[in-house]
Amino acid sequence: SEEELVEKNSERYNLEEENPMLDYGNIGSSEDIEVPPLLIDQVIGHEESVETIKKAAKQRRNVLLIGDPGVGKSMIAKGMAELLPPEVLQDILVYPNAEDNNNPLIRPVPAGDGKKIVMASKHNEKGYGEKKTLITVFLIIGVMALGFVYNQILIALLACLFIFFISMQIKPQNISMGPKLLVSNGEKRFAPFVDGTGAHAGALLGDVRHDPYQSGGLGTPAHERVESGMIHKANRGVLYIDEIGTMSMKTQQELLSAMQEKKYSITGQSENSSGAMVHTQAVPCDFVLVASGNIQVLEGMHIAMRSRIRGYGYEVFMKDSMDDTEENRKKLIQFVAQEIKNDGRIPHFNPEALDEIIKEAKRRAGKKDALTLKLRDLGGLVRAAGDVAKEEGAKYVTSEHVVTAKKYSRTLEQQIADRSIVQRKEYAVFHPTGGKIGMVNGLSVIGDRSGLMLPIAAEAAPAQSTREGKIIATGKLGEIAKESVQNVSALIKKHTGTDISQYDIHVQFLQTYDGVEGDSASVSIAAAVISAIEEIPADQTVALTGSLSVRGDVLPIGGATSKIEAAAEAGIKKVIIPRSNMKDVMIEKKYEEEVEIIPVDTLSDVLENILIEGSKKSKLVEKMKAIGTAVTKVPEGV
Ligand code: ADP
Repeated sequence: SEEELVEKNSERYNLEEENPMLDYGNIGSSEDIEVPPLLIDQVIGHEESVETIKKAAKQRRNVLLIGDPGVGKSMIAKGMAELLPPEVLQDILVYPNAEDNNNPLIRPVPAGDGKKIVMASKHNEKGYGEKKTLITVFLIIGVMALGFVYNQILIALLACLFIFFISMQIKPQNISMGPKLLVSNGEKRFAPFVDGTGAHAGALLGDVRHDPYQSGGLGTPAHERVESGMIHKANRGVLYIDEIGTMSMKTQQELLSAMQEKKYSITGQSENSSGAMVHTQAVPCDFVLVASGNIQVLEGMHIAMRSRIRGYGYEVFMKDSMDDTEENRKKLIQFVAQEIKNDGRIPHFNPEALDEIIKEAKRRAGKKDALTLKLRDLGGLVRAAGDVAKEEGAKYVTSEHVVTAKKYSRTLEQQIADRSIVQRKEYAVFHPTGGKIGMVNGLSVIGDRSGLMLPIAAEAAPAQSTREGKIIATGKLGEIAKESVQNVSALIKKHTGTDISQYDIHVQFLQTYDGVEGDSASVSIAAAVISAIEEIPADQTVALTGSLSVRGDVLPIGGATSKIEAAAEAGIKKVIIPRSNMKDVMIEKKYEEEVEIIPVDTLSDVLENILIEGSKKSKLVEKMKAIGTAVTKVPEGV
């Protein structure tokens, strides 16, 4: 019965006891939780990294942040900019060069002065324009008057036209060309933070626009066409680049030289443009580089760039989870308060709702005594729960709202998994009833944390070739299957006494999608093959996962919780998992009364639990006993 099942399961793992509600004291809702003013103090769970960043900010060192997406890398970089002194900021002006048109002059001035200088010169221009109009009008009136006096009106009219034409040709900037404000830091309270992620060379390094009228001398003057790059805008602040490995080597090289020189001349980035003729004086770009990405990013990173950061900065690895302690739970509720404040449109969370978020953080960490730090995603859940509460017009977000929101904020992968379960049920790929020879329900994970049933079929026929049997594996995971069968063949021989080289073995993964990781399928493959060879039906109400060692031990796998939940969704009654994964099990309450979770240590345990009782199974067990590998008594705790 359901009650018995819950009791059985709760003996094996226990979520509720380990997860008592946090003592909220006099906190009535997340409204009462203080949010620190500085961004760097809002970063949760990366205490060591934050210490390093503070040190790096003090010394203006470059930083390489390595970690999963959504753990707060850009947040830390932004926080670092707030720690840099804003009083040293500069504005940068670009002036025309009377001697060499194509070499505009650069002048840095204290922050705030740039705008004033440009305004003053604009004012001059305006005064000049007014004077010009006045003189033109006087000249025209004078000439016309003379024309009337001497009765030469036609000539006077022509002369006026000429004067007007000349006056139109004289543009203020040809006389007194004012500067252009290239970088403005006037109103900044903090050092600039510039996100250069994915920027092309022109945006990053600066550019000079093309001017089709350049050669005629009528075009826009060169200095007006100069555009600053992100490296210049980040002067005395932070330049942040995520996924730095995807940036072209050439751009990385240029970036590196900008870092070394702390100044970088701006030129047109496209070679055929008139902008490429223009080279400004060197423009200051004394920025701190914060580069980031996951560990693969290192492959695409310029070696000299990496060594520059290592030599003149810090490399920081960011965790994706933190210990489940009372202190860290408190930080997590601070995180909820932060997200609500930043969003500004959703109601506050009551203590039960905060606890639900903590529980979810624990589930998402996917391992014992840990809370996830993939907080961007968790923030999504906070907002979704807020939206649900708001729709209902509730004053506070409750735990029910959070539970409802979980349904809405399922990831794409989860939605695909859901969909595939429905589809497979429709087409009856798996039948969670009865027994079948050579068929087992494996389990896998797609994406981050979405479980998926992975039906595996094995067929064994006496070998065609007299020398040795073949392993034929089909389905998207063919290679993995082949390898697994090869690995388990020795085990099968040892455990069951059967020499599988006398058989041609076909293994097929039914309806697999791309992106399914398959290394946790080795236990399932072994079970399917043994069921096929020994012709013992496998229990279709059982699903299983685990990685098989060459000695026959069942080793831990990832994503235990989501796999169990996927199995329960599909109507499975028992799930076999590696014993060492029991501590990671954090399935939702509703599943606790749907499936029984069976921990196993060895391949024999697996066979014991998945093969259907009968004379053949008894025989196999006899055989296994004779070899000495059978488990005669059920291990403790089962
Ligand atoms: P990354 O750069 O690592 O992909 P972000 O810094 O862009 O992640 O994080 C996105 C958002 O998620 C942040 O703006 C913040 O709201 C939230 N967030 C992520 N990590 C943390 C953290 N460690 N502490 C607090 N908030 C976080």
